[in-house]
Amino acid sequence: MPVSLAAHRSPRHVRWWRALKAALGGGREPPYLEAMDAMDAAIVLFDAQDRLVLCNRNFRALYPGLSHMLAPGCSFEELLREAAALGMIPVAQGDLEGFVAQRLRQHREPGAPILRQMPDGRWRRITEQRLADGSLLAFSVDVSDLVEKERALDAARAQAQQERERLEDALEALPDGFALFDADDRLVVCNQRYREIYERSAPAIRAGAHFEDLLRYGLARGQYPGAEGRESAWLEERLYRHHHADQPLLQELPGNRWMRIEERPTRLGGVAGVRVDVTDLVHREQQLEQLNARLAESRAQLHAVIGTAQSAIVTLDEQGVVLSANPATATIFGWPEADLVGRDIGVLVPGELGAEARAGRAAPQDIRARHRDGHSIAVQLSLSRLDSAGGARFVALFTDLSDREAYAQALRDANAQLAHLSETDALTGIANRRRFDRALHDEWQRSGRHGQPLALLLVDVDHFKRFNDSRGHPMGDECLRAIAQLLRNCVRRAGDLVARYGGEEFALLLPHTDRAEAMALALACIEAVEDAALPHPDSPLAPHVTLSVGVASAVGAGAPSPAPLLDAADSAMYAAKRAGRRRAVMAE
Ligand code: GH3
Ligand code: MG
Ligand code: MG
Repeated sequence: MPVSLAAHRSPRHVRWWRALKAALGGGREPPYLEAMDAMDAAIVLFDAQDRLVLCNRNFRALYPGLSHMLAPGCSFEELLREAAALGMIPVAQGDLEGFVAQRLRQHREPGAPILRQMPDGRWRRITEQRLADGSLLAFSVDVSDLVEKERALDAARAQAQQERERLEDALEALPDGFALFDADDRLVVCNQRYREIYERSAPAIRAGAHFEDLLRYGLARGQYPGAEGRESAWLEERLYRHHHADQPLLQELPGNRWMRIEERPTRLGGVAGVRVDVTDLVHREQQLEQLNARLAESRAQLHAVIGTAQSAIVTLDEQGVVLSANPATATIFGWPEADLVGRDIGVLVPGELGAEARAGRAAPQDIRARHRDGHSIAVQLSLSRLDSAGGARFVALFTDLSDREAYAQALRDANAQLAHLSETDALTGIANRRRFDRALHDEWQRSGRHGQPLALLLVDVDHFKRFNDSRGHPMGDECLRAIAQLLRNCVRRAGDLVARYGGEEFALLLPHTDRAEAMALALACIEAVEDAALPHPDSPLAPHVTLSVGVASAVGAGAPSPAPLLDAADSAMYAAKRAGRRRAVMAE
């Protein structure tokens, strides 16, 4: 295959060819010309004066319209202008002179390769190189594929950039914190909100930062209150959750702020995470928990109070049906809760009270309620109405008053006993002087009102001092008790009073009794004591105890005070003593 130059072996070419061969220093056609034709590149050589020396076949094919000029000696500028004029250099269109000037400058001092689009739309890279002898070798290769690829790459890059910007805008518009980590756990992108959330870690939050390093950085600066005191365990858990996030994670931040973290693995093996601020929610939950705890506490207290209350506490519905009852209900009414629930409150209280209770009108009041076994119990009932969501409820509180009644009775008894004791002689158990004085006064008045005689007997034990001296004081006491009993047995009527008047003296007050009856009773008393034969070894009168009695009887109409009666009986008694004792003497 002849080299392309052979086709142009006009006489001029032949001359040129010889000159070239001479220039290249050989007498024969150099074999590399064939090689040049075989090359993909278009190759052209200009001498130091910018005259064409040679070009290869590809160069001719590239500029078919120039073939008539492609002979040695044609200047670069001529070729350039012709090619531009033929429209073979699209870039020259519009400003031919400007292009030529600029191209010539490039040509004289070749620099970086020139990228040029051909009329058919393909791209070529033109490289020019100045050789040692001043000649210039230029070659161009088709780089359309490369340019296309680069174009596509640029477009792809631009699109990627655009998408990235769009993504970043979207991320910034998110109200939540967002961070994306790659398969090596390095931060790819995060939004500003994420930096704000982890403000203590913010200086370390940069693209490329390792997730674990971020955690450690934050740990060292108190970013995670939940980790305090257990940092390494916390770190281990957090890293585990980061890669095994099956459910959201609640994370505490300084200042009692709370984030819900939702992390998902990405298709590329990374992790995308969203942080949602749930502080308000958690605070509300915390408040609710506190409230519930307090509620449970009060409820427990209330139950304890109801359970241990001494009063019966019964809740009712609007129809008066028992809903609940406390243990005291069994104690007071004999109704255990299990038996009472579901029954009408009428089993505890009378019908009309049940109705009042249902109407919620019953003020605290003392009522008679029914025990389960039928007996009546005094209770105080207080009723309160509760309007709850499930309808009206009533709470009936029954306080057992039987204790109160028993107490009142005991008080009455005690008072009576006290009154009795205050008028009773401690030694003998009969009326004392106080009672006697009162009775004497009263009976004296009554005697005056009814015109009936009142008799008085003053009884004195004879030589009682000697009794004590001979038998001892305790025996003396015993003797006084026996005499008191004997005297009591002597009186028959309900109105008669036997009293200890003082020491070893007794007084008998006898309403409706005249002198004769009084004298008879005095003798009966003396006889009863004689018959009792209480030993009195030191008595000069008898071997036993004897009595002296002064007797008086009068009608109370005359004097306002019973003193005269008392004086008369007393004088009579002393008269009996003087007369030798062991006798009764009737007053004048
Ligand atoms: P007379 O026959 O004149 O009444 O002589 P008498 O010794 O009984 O009278 P007197 O008034 O001299 O003494 C009364 C005595 O009664 C003195 C006192 O020790 C005694 N006596 C008074 N009260 C009590 C008492 O409560 N218990 C005892 N054991 N003795 C009493
Ligand atoms: Mg006396
Ligand atoms: Mg005496």
